[in-house]
Amino acid sequence: MAFFLQIVIGINANNKSNISIMEQKKGTIGVTTENIFPVIKKFLYSDHEIFLRELVSNAVDATQKLKTLAAFGEFNGELGNMDVRVSIDKSAGTLTVSDHGIGMTADDIDKYINQIAFSGAEEFLEKYKDTANSIIGHFGLGFYSAFMVAKKVEIRSLSYKDGSKAVKWVCDGSPEFEMEEIEKSERGTDIILYIDDEDKEFLDQSRINALLKKYCRFLPVPVISGKIQEWKDGKYVDTDKDNVVNATEPLWTRKPSELSDEDYLKFYHELYPGNEDPMFWIHLNVDYPFTLTGILYFPKIKNNFEIPKNRIQLYSNQVFVTDSVEGVVPEFMMLLQGVIDSPDIPLNVSRSYLQADSAVKKISGYITKKVASRLDSLFKSDRKEYESKWDDIKIFIEYGMLTDEKFCEAAMKFVLLKDTDSKYYTLDEYRTLIEPEQTDKEGNVVYLYTTDVTAQYKFIDNATRRGYSALVMDGQLDNHFIALLEQKIEKSRFVRVDSDVISNLISKTDKPVSDISDVTRVILTEMFQSQLPSGSDANYIVTYEATGENSDPLEITQNEYMRRMKDMAALQPGMNFYGQLPDSYSVVVNTDSPLIKRIGDEASSALKSEVEKFQSEISSGNTAITALRSSFKDGKPDEAQQTELSKLESDVKSARDNETTLIKGYAEKNPVVKQLIDLALLGNGLLKGKELTEFIRRSTSLL
Ligand code: ADP
Repeated sequence: MAFFLQIVIGINANNKSNISIMEQKKGTIGVTTENIFPVIKKFLYSDHEIFLRELVSNAVDATQKLKTLAAFGEFNGELGNMDVRVSIDKSAGTLTVSDHGIGMTADDIDKYINQIAFSGAEEFLEKYKDTANSIIGHFGLGFYSAFMVAKKVEIRSLSYKDGSKAVKWVCDGSPEFEMEEIEKSERGTDIILYIDDEDKEFLDQSRINALLKKYCRFLPVPVISGKIQEWKDGKYVDTDKDNVVNATEPLWTRKPSELSDEDYLKFYHELYPGNEDPMFWIHLNVDYPFTLTGILYFPKIKNNFEIPKNRIQLYSNQVFVTDSVEGVVPEFMMLLQGVIDSPDIPLNVSRSYLQADSAVKKISGYITKKVASRLDSLFKSDRKEYESKWDDIKIFIEYGMLTDEKFCEAAMKFVLLKDTDSKYYTLDEYRTLIEPEQTDKEGNVVYLYTTDVTAQYKFIDNATRRGYSALVMDGQLDNHFIALLEQKIEKSRFVRVDSDVISNLISKTDKPVSDISDVTRVILTEMFQSQLPSGSDANYIVTYEATGENSDPLEITQNEYMRRMKDMAALQPGMNFYGQLPDSYSVVVNTDSPLIKRIGDEASSALKSEVEKFQSEISSGNTAITALRSSFKDGKPDEAQQTELSKLESDVKSARDNETTLIKGYAEKNPVVKQLIDLALLGNGLLKGKELTEFIRRSTSLL
């Protein structure tokens, strides 16, 4: 058999005599490009092994054809043994593929082998000169692929037709062949390959067995090669039982109604030995507008998720073709396993061609639809079961929604959200649940979420105590998925529970104003800033909010937007800029907190007069600098101005430095400041190593 593009070989016009009256016939295979065989060898070099697939498929086709003829009453003889046999004769250096199918008469050979008109070949080669390598390398040459591994090929055949004479055809790889009548009593065809010196591997039974297992495992006619072996006296020896390499009725060719779960599981484990049971499967079966059968399995995907590709096997009429299915199945289905069998997929062409092919697009669309409707029916028929599998199938569904518009549309109905109580909701259900409590003053419904239930416990607790719900979004794709949901769900906003203080997460009224004097604010800012960790991997900015008397005095939050950018950067190579920025946190001082009030008052009475002095120095210095700058001609200072500017700037700087030193010195002596900071860091899981140990020591000494 040959796929898609066929190199067709014709006999030269001058040899086109009637070959049926046959003594011995010589002819030339009409390859105008001097000789097609070097081309075959060269271009198909890497795929030598597919010759076996081609020849065995031809043998199976011939067998099937005879069975069909018999079924229609056009062949009334004895069918007899219909097995296909692949046999090796090491001493003769031959590999033979034999069948008991329809066979060929001399005319048939002339027509199908000699004349498989080479009409298109030369033009084809001319047209695809540049891409020939990739294209030719990917399409089967049918019978002629035998010349990839053989220096001489012999056909011995006896047709099923009454009164046929057996015939032998020999060709040594030059464009010449010989044909003659022979004695052969059994109906069918032997294709005998005289294997090249450099291809001796194909005379090795175990190599042939491996190839047959790869390509012919599910062919519809029994294929026999070698004998079944058994372990005897410390080694494997042949028994007298034929080794049948294939299962002639693979599961996907059978009716779903006849199959049990055990059948599907058994088949799965045959395909993927050693794997865990799949979660569920879909039996595909369509015959219009294209033919496609198959079974797709949803495997359990491990959490350390790397997209495992090339696990779906592609067949064409039960002949294995490839396991690289990119382009044929939608990208997200690469996570699935199983088999797809379709004679309508042009299997042997380059990938870009495949992706542009309209049949392939239809097939891909069909598979998407089928998978979506299977998930939908699972969801509808047994929601409990569906929920129990949700954590495992979630990544698949999210991936599908992110990469396939059509699938996304369908999945909006059965994608689930899980809250921190492990309850599952559809998108609609969840919106209805949170809308009353979680709509902000702009009318946006705010979806709170956590990426780590343990680390963000404090914030979840704050939220749930307010009567809010929080979602668990800890999957590998959730970051992207959240962005998708924001697009898809109108008037929605997703914020992580720790991205702001609780009163600002879902702001319902205008913010209460912090009543704190400017000087106290300066002092407190410097006090906290000077005691915060000062590494290069994190930035802390002190801010003020009035979050109520009962809220924490100090809280550390992380801006949603910046954090998302960084998280995305971690997954996408092109976003290094964000990835390299340090983590940025807000240290929110609660001006309603009695403790903060006390610290502020105490510090203020101790430092106020000095700080006010520094502040006025700084402010008058800055005023003078501004005035001086505005007197520059053409925006540039002259020498005297430059000297004055430098002096003013250095005065301001030293006022600042002195202020910092003063407040820092005061803060260092106040253990409550450091303690508050550490408690806040602890609440975010940010207190580690040396700082954590010091915190424990300090806490103990306070007791
Ligand atoms: P394809 O199988 O795609 O038509 P091939 O080059 O493999 O192309 O084979 C050409 C033709 O030769 C087949 O269509 C078939 O008619 C005939 N043929 C090849 N092998 C056999 C065989 N074992 N028995 C009968 N006919 C065969």
